[in-house]
Amino acid sequence: MDLKKEILDLKKEKKAVILAHFYQIPEVQDIADFIGDSLQLAQKTMQLKEDLIIFAGVYFMAETVKILNPNKRIIIPDKNAGCSLVDDVDINKVKELISRYPDHVVVTYVNSSAILKTMSYIICTSSNAFKIINSIPKDKGIIFLPDKNLGKYLSSVTGRNMVIYEGSCIVHEQFSLEKIIMLKDKHRNAKIIAHPECEDVILKIADFIGSTSALLDFVSKDTSNEYIVATEPGIIHQMRKKCENKVFIPAPPNDSTCACNECRYMKMITLDKILHSLEKEEYEVTLSSEILEKAKVPLLRMMEIS
Ligand code: SF4
Repeated sequence: MDLKKEILDLKKEKKAVILAHFYQIPEVQDIADFIGDSLQLAQKTMQLKEDLIIFAGVYFMAETVKILNPNKRIIIPDKNAGCSLVDDVDINKVKELISRYPDHVVVTYVNSSAILKTMSYIICTSSNAFKIINSIPKDKGIIFLPDKNLGKYLSSVTGRNMVIYEGSCIVHEQFSLEKIIMLKDKHRNAKIIAHPECEDVILKIADFIGSTSALLDFVSKDTSNEYIVATEPGIIHQMRKKCENKVFIPAPPNDSTCACNECRYMKMITLDKILHSLEKEEYEVTLSSEILEKAKVPLLRMMEIS
């Protein structure tokens, strides 16, 4: 039987819902009930009646959904779908930072483990980070975890001094300035659009900076016809669907013969694995009740402000 039909039939039989992040492969995006960035997906799950959620994305996102929906069963089709930004954080270094700046407010990017969330005052995503930072009283210092590029960008647009953790995403820190400039030379009318997790040098030449959903929104309203896209290229599938006549060129990475910069973790989720996850109802995301309770507090603070 056709794999897609098998998934859809089983999903219906089990009354499950499939959520997919914008960075998933096109076939996975196309069978999902809802597609979005991490904030949109987290908000969506809180409105769902269904108890079985198949989450096509990376592990920290599935954990976030579990924290917000502790009574639902959250299944990730590949439990090894991690994230460099999350995995490289040294919790002891974070503890050290927090004890060195005890009066600072800890703001943590949603791309973080559940443990890191428990150590935070409030969470932010790239869509709402500006609002979240501005909600913190001006006389308060801020510790920003764990993405250094997003932290530096936020510090520059809000004018706030921040103590920033030195983490980064392997995808967004690898874009090549030189290759992007060469592309721009070839495509003079193309606008460069970039995610704020990119390095400063890339953001400086960008015509527009925003979260994945903001980038999608921008290209659908903007009058240009060509874009160089400096974020994970999975989003280009939705851009092409929304704007059939426009041209989207993935920004190239530094050390590769490949023309785009894919997240290997996001691409671990396949249709076969989704079918398996529906059949066996694995791999279920589980967290201790203590972590669930503690991590929910900063997430709900973010939700209220969003
Ligand atoms: S794109 Fe970067 S931040 Fe997002 S899941 Fe992949 S490694 Fe993590």
